[in-house]
Amino acid sequence: MAGKTQTVIVGGGLIGAFTAYFLARHGQAVTVLERSFVGAQSSGANFGNLRLQGRDPRQYPLSLRAQAIWEEFETLAGESIEYHRTGHLYIARQDDEVDKLEHHAQTARGHGLEIEMLGTAALAARYPYLGRDIRAATFCGRDATANPRLATPAVMRAARRLGAKVIEHCEVGSIGHKGGCFEIGTRTHGSFKADHLVNAAGAWGGEIAAWFGEKVPMFSAGPPQFVTEPLPYIVEPSMQMVDGSVIFRQIPRGNVIVAGYPRTASEAGSSRTLVPPAKTLSAMQTLGAIVPALGDAHVIRVWSGVEGYLLDMIPIIGPSSARDGLFHAFGCCGHGFQIAPGIGAVLCDLISTGSTQTPIEAFHIDRYRGDVTANEKIAREFDQSAAR
Ligand SMILES: Cc1cc2nc3c(=O)[nH]c(=O)nc-3n(C[C@H](O)[C@H](O)[C@H](O)COP(=O)(O)OP(=O)(O)OC[C@H]3O[C@@H](n4cnc5c(N)ncnc54)[C@H](O)[C@@H]3O)c2cc1C
Repeated sequence: MAGKTQTVIVGGGLIGAFTAYFLARHGQAVTVLERSFVGAQSSGANFGNLRLQGRDPRQYPLSLRAQAIWEEFETLAGESIEYHRTGHLYIARQDDEVDKLEHHAQTARGHGLEIEMLGTAALAARYPYLGRDIRAATFCGRDATANPRLATPAVMRAARRLGAKVIEHCEVGSIGHKGGCFEIGTRTHGSFKADHLVNAAGAWGGEIAAWFGEKVPMFSAGPPQFVTEPLPYIVEPSMQMVDGSVIFRQIPRGNVIVAGYPRTASEAGSSRTLVPPAKTLSAMQTLGAIVPALGDAHVIRVWSGVEGYLLDMIPIIGPSSARDGLFHAFGCCGHGFQIAPGIGAVLCDLISTGSTQTPIEAFHIDRYRGDVTANEKIAREFDQSAAR
């Protein structure tokens, strides 16, 4: 049996890493247990978008707290994660989508963000490489991108420097609670004792919550991602169709990273999500319509990841109702790269002071005891995934 620590975190993704970082900075003894390696899952495989506009309104306070941390991240971690404040363009090609843009812009402005609404003439002047069938777009200059392959290991290294212990290839197989503390059993490293336990197990977080009798409907999926050969660098902002079909960004080395939707359900019982070739082809067609110069690019690599989705498309964050000292932070529904620093900071508040100034009530696991309003798009995907 390893010695007792204040907090054990299950999961060495970005949420586990930021939680460890903030707790260690606060002087707490913290141990992270990761069954694979740091950033092995969604946190290392994602698209790398740090977008504020277009958020679910319930996420804005958390998102803004997170973005402020990203903005000082390289100073905080002491290394580059290829963070660029590129700005982000939301693109409408149909008239009815322009209303959606207006709606997103209004919500974002309500949270203090500066959003520019650009019509066809302004778009042609500013981004002459864009195709001609674009009706309008919104631009938020505070939106940014970073390299997910670099970010999670960098945060974890910073946490380690502050005293956090990180154990990789260490799967948590059981959790008990005796004499006021958690006993965490692993398959390879014996057991650990802790006063607090953080469930940051990503798409597998629902399994751990269920060990405590807290069941939530979740499914695992990933959007197909691919990258092209390097091409002359022309596209500075990241760009996204407001219909949700395609998102892309060009990195200064010239490669274009693209994500095509809808998501694909992950393989049951495995940590893989396949990328159907048809999705790559259709996303490349859309890319060619938006930026004709990129239409003939060769795709050199495809991948995806395993992300946890909940029916209402917002994560589970906050204290458990079943067990004092247990905190959940999982099921980020495709938004966790951006909000992870905010979640880590909030969990540190809760564990070290018992409360937080950031509103997180909407994310409480108890909402699934009542009627949850399902997000229509994700509910359809849930059904398809159950039917497979
Ligand atoms: C393809 C793709 C693109 C995305 N693009 C974006 C984007 O552009 N912007 C954005 O904001 N978000 C994006 N996301 C979502 C984002 O990547 C995730 O929400 C975020 O990384 C979740 O972090 P996490 O730490 O909760 O999960 P993870 O990174 O999955 O980490 C959880 C960890 O827990 C470990 N674990 C699980 N069970 C156990 C156990 N029993 N014992 C020990 N360890 C365990 C796993 O091995 C894993 O490493 C994307 C996701 C995907 C899949």
